Amino acid sequence: MNLKALWARLTVATLLPVALVTMTLYPIFASYLEERVDNARQATEALLASEYDMLLRGMNESFNQVLATAEYPLLSRVLARQTATQTPSWGLAAQNDWEQLETLFDTLLTHFGRYTRLAVIDTNGHEWVTATAMPPLPRPPVFGLGATPAFQEAMTLQSRDLYVSPPRLGASGEDATLVMTVIDIATPIFDERGQRLGVLLFTLDWSRLTANLPHAREDVREDGRGEALLVDAQGSWLLPGSDGQGDRFGQPLMNLWPAAWEAVSARNQGMATLDEHLLGFRSHDIRTQHYRSQAGMIVSQPETLPWRLGILMPRPSLAGLLKENPVQLLAIALVYLLSVAFGVFWVLSNHRLRGLRQRALQFSREARQYAGEVQDLYEHAPCGYHSLDSNGRVVKINRTELDWLGYRAAEVIDKRHYRDFVTPETREAFDAAFRQVLGQGQEGSAECELLCRDGTHLPVVIQATAQVTEEGFQYSRAMVFDLSDRKQLEERLAKQALTDPLTGLGNRRYLEGQAAREIARAQRSGAPLSLIAVDLDHFKCINDSYGHDVGDLVLQDFANTARDLLRDGDVLCRMGGEEFAVLLPDTTHEQAMLVAERLREAIATTPARVGHAVTADGMLAYSTSLGVTLVSAGEASLKPAIKRADQGLYAAKEAGRNRVHWEEA
Ligand code: GH3
Ligand code: MG
Ligand code: MG
Repeated sequence: MNLKALWARLTVATLLPVALVTMTLYPIFASYLEERVDNARQATEALLASEYDMLLRGMNESFNQVLATAEYPLLSRVLARQTATQTPSWGLAAQNDWEQLETLFDTLLTHFGRYTRLAVIDTNGHEWVTATAMPPLPRPPVFGLGATPAFQEAMTLQSRDLYVSPPRLGASGEDATLVMTVIDIATPIFDERGQRLGVLLFTLDWSRLTANLPHAREDVREDGRGEALLVDAQGSWLLPGSDGQGDRFGQPLMNLWPAAWEAVSARNQGMATLDEHLLGFRSHDIRTQHYRSQAGMIVSQPETLPWRLGILMPRPSLAGLLKENPVQLLAIALVYLLSVAFGVFWVLSNHRLRGLRQRALQFSREARQYAGEVQDLYEHAPCGYHSLDSNGRVVKINRTELDWLGYRAAEVIDKRHYRDFVTPETREAFDAAFRQVLGQGQEGSAECELLCRDGTHLPVVIQATAQVTEEGFQYSRAMVFDLSDRKQLEERLAKQALTDPLTGLGNRRYLEGQAAREIARAQRSGAPLSLIAVDLDHFKCINDSYGHDVGDLVLQDFANTARDLLRDGDVLCRMGGEEFAVLLPDTTHEQAMLVAERLREAIATTPARVGHAVTADGMLAYSTSLGVTLVSAGEASLKPAIKRADQGLYAAKEAGRNRVHWEEA
């Protein structure tokens, strides 16, 4: 396996455990997270409801106070007096009324703390009483308030009706230069006869009314428990600024938080999921029944209503959960680490195992190939192989030997004794060798002849050794060599050793061998045995005159002529040079003389064929001299007879050649 594949496996081994662990852990965390989100949603709804109630209560309280104050007879009395005179009246009764009114307003200011300014305005827009103004009394009428929307609106209202302005930036009652967020609440003032006398205007510190909303509470926001959102119908931010938050008052929510605006502008109330927050919101319309416990009608600037009050809660997230519990985070990291480590370890050990397996496979392939080669070598070796059990039964035999024998393996293995394939003549040698193999020596060899299926005999030499273990003899293992070639060679060599190559006749040694047999037979039978010695006449002259090759042709011609003429049992041989001998078994003196004479005559009358290059007619006449004798009954060897025949030969030569001479024993 190459490195690339290993990397691929390692990648899988890393990613897979991560995926598995994630698949296991994710549902657990997801359901836990869902539960947390549900809890957060419920908390948001609960907080929203309580914030809503709180705002409702605070505003209702102020509305009721405005209405209750407007109905004070003291107020209408003071206002009626001022309206009538159009100048401050400083009589005793008036003085008393002023002081009472001052006390009332002071009490309202100090006791509730949320009012920044309390004003009584006549129908002409003259402000006659202002609670925060110093010095309180006597005061000239203040002009200009008649143009404010609060006055304008309140002047059109009936008794117990209220005008409530949207939150706005205005001057603080105590310090005209200090700008703060306020709302105006105004109601008309009537006398007992229903005569409109003026307007009562309360300016409220808006931050006091909204003080309980979480926006102003740094600690709550930092705890991540929630943040309030309040916008008017146009999306303008209605909550007063607070420390560290920047003054967002009046800014469009669309710019501050587009997603939140999109959510709250779409519906009157509900729950929205923003990126990292849950937003619970509801409409807040001060003109509704909730605010009119004592008021007849509440009027405001319609385009700003209704408001949207919302609570933003951080949305629980997986990261947040883990951050909450570092031990848990550590445990998860450990699980991931262990699973990845396990994957990597598995891949690496598997990689090693794979390598080993491949090598083992390679080895076994090579071993199989090697075994096949060995088997092939065994089956087709140039010699036979076989194994026999202790009874001599064939347990294994190779193809070569089966081919020699002409049998199939199934016919032989475990079925036949090897001894059956050995010819009866050589079986004894085989048995002896097999006994040696079974015996102490544990090896033996024998030259035998195998009996083949087609009836032929195959000369072989068998060399066997015993295979012995601690449990004793197991089987014999033998190599069998085919001896037929060797035998043929031996025979050829033996024949060559007894043959004259020029004429093909037997040589002197051959004659000696034949003579020994014939002498023995003659002695047994008492039959006569004759010998003729032949020598070519003037052969040296032929050589000298025509060359050695022609001499050879003449020698061959003699051999052929003599062979044709003699009987089968006669033994013709070349003794050397141009000398020949004929052993005539069962031949008397007279018969031998006749044969010799016939031979002499045949040669003398039949010239040798030597070719036209040598003589004119291609023929060359020659003659022979012959000495004839009888092998005596007492002679054990041919030697004396040869000597006598030679003597006869010399005599023939002496007598003029081309003749036969008898030499008496
Ligand atoms: P003689 O009539 O007295 O027998 O005379 P000869 O010439 O035949 O006798 P000699 O013994 O003087 O010569 C024999 C010759 O035969 C000598 C030798 O060179 C020749 N000779 C011997 N063997 C061979 C052979 O194999 N081939 C040939 N061409 N000549 C041979
Ligand atoms: Mg000679
Ligand atoms: Mg001669």
